[in-house]
Amino acid sequence: MNKVIDPSLKSWIEVNQDSDFPIQNIPFGIFKTPGGDSRAATRIGDKVIDLYSLALHGFLDGLGFHPDLFKCETLNAVIASGKTACRALRTRIAGIFEQSNPLLRDHPEIHGEILFLAETIQMLMPVKVGDYTDFYSSIEHATNVGIMFRDPANALLPNWKHMPVGYHGRSSSIVVSGAEIHRPKGQTKPDNAELPEFGPSRQVDFELEVAFITGRQPDLGTSVTTAEAEDHIFGLVLFNDLSARDIQKWEYVPLGPFLAKNFGSVISPWIITLDALEPFRVSGPKQEPAVLPYLQFDGDHNFDVQLDVLIQPENQREQLVCHSNYKYMYWNLAQQLAHQTVNGCNINIGDMYGSGTISGTTSDSFGSMLEIAWKGTKPVKFPDGTERKFIHDNDTIIMRGYCKNENLRIGFGEVVTKILPATIHQSRIINQ
Ligand code: CA
Repeated sequence: MNKVIDPSLKSWIEVNQDSDFPIQNIPFGIFKTPGGDSRAATRIGDKVIDLYSLALHGFLDGLGFHPDLFKCETLNAVIASGKTACRALRTRIAGIFEQSNPLLRDHPEIHGEILFLAETIQMLMPVKVGDYTDFYSSIEHATNVGIMFRDPANALLPNWKHMPVGYHGRSSSIVVSGAEIHRPKGQTKPDNAELPEFGPSRQVDFELEVAFITGRQPDLGTSVTTAEAEDHIFGLVLFNDLSARDIQKWEYVPLGPFLAKNFGSVISPWIITLDALEPFRVSGPKQEPAVLPYLQFDGDHNFDVQLDVLIQPENQREQLVCHSNYKYMYWNLAQQLAHQTVNGCNINIGDMYGSGTISGTTSDSFGSMLEIAWKGTKPVKFPDGTERKFIHDNDTIIMRGYCKNENLRIGFGEVVTKILPATIHQSRIINQ
């Protein structure tokens, strides 16, 4: 059923040992051709593979996909074909590029129509995101935030160990890696000030997250169980949930995050399927107290994905500021989706569900500057002599994710975000 992940498979496309995209990965994305069209694609090594062109040449015949389906601006319609069809598509693609298969390998005259060097093309948003939920499912992150902002003795709120806490976010401002985001402006209220002020945020932060994308569309009123949840999940991406901490602090009471969280959230361009991650499935932290029956689950639903965050000041080398892991999640993706739908809330194909900031137990594994620099009290030193409490203008934030064992590496690639200075604000003053 899932032959693609056989670690002995090799491709006739050259794949470096440290590549995120061996023939066992076969992720899905959307790229812009040199002619300006957008197409569904996969990737092996440093080659982006145009699925439309592959289909036009007959290589995807018999799978039930019309070639035009791959000439698309988003993957939503491809995903709607279903998990069984997409699984067969991945298996076919792996077969075409398997090293002993001469059908395409020995026809270099058409390689130029199908294969593109990754560094020469632009990746686009892989899906149209209908709805977006952001969870808060790392116990280390929730505890750190509770210690900093509330009460160290009662860092977790009473509900936290009983449900995957989340909120509905804004889908329109989710953009793809390579984004340049202006520092947001808004209301803040410094601790000693009596009144709020307006201006550029002084505390722009990243949040290291992994997001899952749903691939089925049950009707309103349908609850997805933890056992059914993974059938509804198409795959995962890296997710940088940019946050303006000073805006957040003033605005979030009593209804939760708003403008501090919707000025740009950035995802990696390749959707990694759960099938590709199968060898890296691990058990999660023990949940105590026992959770309610609808949140109980069988099997392992955590994944051992190593996560790095680097900050690159302008014209400087990148510096590692965090090394974390998706396996630390207290609430797993099956529980998150079961909770999201337990009241009958419907889900769409292409919906995105952020994990929440993923922190480990040690300070070098915290998934936000808020925690790494501990609310500004422990600034991070950079080789150029500067310090960071939060993100500076013209800093680039780079997140990378990969799974690795002795004979296989499956990676997510990276999500790159540059923070630009705030735009000049021209107030419209109407004199009456
Ligand atoms: Ca978040």
